[in-house]
Amino acid sequence: MIIKPKIRGFICTTAHPEGCAAHVQEQIDFVRSQGPLRDMPARVLVIGSSTGYGLASRIVPAFGGKAATIGVFFEKPGEEGKTGSAGWYNSVAFERAAHAEGLYAKSINGDAFSDAVKEQVIGLIKQDLGTVDCVIYSLASPRRTHPRTGVVHHSTLKPNGGTFTAKTVNTDKGVVSEISIEPANEQEQRDTVAVMGDEDWQMWIDALNQAGVLAPNATTVAYSYLGPRVTWDIYRNGTIGLAKEDLEATAHRMDAQLHPQGGRAFVSINKALVTQASSAIPVVPLYISMLYKVMKARGLHEGCIEQITRLFKDRLYNGAQPQPDDAGRIRVDDWEMRPDVQSEVETLWEQATTENLNELTDIAGYRAEFLRLFGFGLPGVDYEKESDPVQPLPSGQA
Ligand code: NAD
Repeated sequence: MIIKPKIRGFICTTAHPEGCAAHVQEQIDFVRSQGPLRDMPARVLVIGSSTGYGLASRIVPAFGGKAATIGVFFEKPGEEGKTGSAGWYNSVAFERAAHAEGLYAKSINGDAFSDAVKEQVIGLIKQDLGTVDCVIYSLASPRRTHPRTGVVHHSTLKPNGGTFTAKTVNTDKGVVSEISIEPANEQEQRDTVAVMGDEDWQMWIDALNQAGVLAPNATTVAYSYLGPRVTWDIYRNGTIGLAKEDLEATAHRMDAQLHPQGGRAFVSINKALVTQASSAIPVVPLYISMLYKVMKARGLHEGCIEQITRLFKDRLYNGAQPQPDDAGRIRVDDWEMRPDVQSEVETLWEQATTENLNELTDIAGYRAEFLRLFGFGLPGVDYEKESDPVQPLPSGQA
């Protein structure tokens, strides 16, 4: 079939197999261009490995350090006449490229919050790898079925305390407007923490440890975001911020738990980037459009692959030190949070309107990046050519 983008609000309901493969290949090429990294983990489990930060976290150890990888994700395979999700095609492309390089790569498509998927992963590690020495936790999900209670928790993106009013942009239409969001109630706060907080990360580490498949010196990292004042009410001081605080507190406890056996646990604060998860957050896409403009002009712009390369190369492995902040968090959002960058973004924030959006912000770059997430707009891909939506995972592990 001929596959074109179909955008509905902040999601694209189609994805292009060859385009996603080209997107994955670009990231592999970037990692290769950095040369081999030293002291890299040999066997890596990435939970949420199909898109965004998690995909980059699978590509960097594999192609920078020849690591064997197991990826866990929740994606839709394509059917006859219907495209699968981008994360499915990314994972197919990743496995193909890894296998072509002689690297071990298997994937599990299922609900990472469930006990069944945890058991499946443990079984696979026992069968093929023995242990894993790095576990990256990069889930972003709107809901979680709790494995003990069966309750389905939904996460919300709301402020805590009072109503929040701020500028936002409809990225599709290019209209800047004010948005008012009512504060979350306590149940919504608890539900968001249940989905995006620490509990599942801890459950994974406990399950791996108890099964004896976590190498004694394993490193585990979960991702978080801090961001500037303009997004605080909806992000850091909002429901999602409560969940992230939880995650960060757990990193300390988990580090203390793993330390005696030689392991370590961190939260890494990453940069704001266009991903499927971030495009759903009000206000954030407008901020990202400005941030991209300012960081590109200063030669500081990074995507997921550059961020995660820096995390592995300059903070976690390769002879580097984590350089945690006062709260013990790794900061690869350091360039985003530079005072000169933030002061320019603040100026743009005051000025931006529908009329000057194209001039003052990188909304064009935002849109192009958004489409690329789904495999559209990649150089060298013929979008007029028939494409087969049915693409099996080479490892057959789905
Ligand atoms: P993303 O939407 O690109 O990726 C989410 C991943 O989670 C996908 O692989 C998806 O398949 C997987 N997933 C979702 N629900 C699942 C389930 N039930 N079972 C198994 N897999 C499931 O998101 P992202 O933006 O890369 O976010 C990853 C992490 O990085 C999140 O913790 C997010 O808060 C953090 N982060 C994101 C940004 C940003 O700007 N995008 C910035 C800093 C930190």
